[in-house]
Amino acid sequence: MIKMMLCREATRLMSKRLDAPLGLGERLSLRLHLGMCRPCRHCNAQFDVLHRVGHHFDAEPNADKSDNAPRS
Ligand SMILES: [Zn+2]
Repeated sequence: MIKMMLCREATRLMSKRLDAPLGLGERLSLRLHLGMCRPCRHCNAQFDVLHRVGHHFDAEPNADKSDNAPRS
């Protein structure tokens, strides 16, 4: 019998997924857990938002390095 993944492990995979694609086993385990665990689904949605925001900033590498916008 497959052991239910811990929420801590699921969260680790959600975070890891932002940096690198998960393996097939990891993806399936995470999907299975998200199907049964509402708090983790919510957490996963938050990760997705963070991921999108991160990409938005990556798309404009000069935005916060401009000489016209001193920060100090
Ligand atoms: Zn969970």
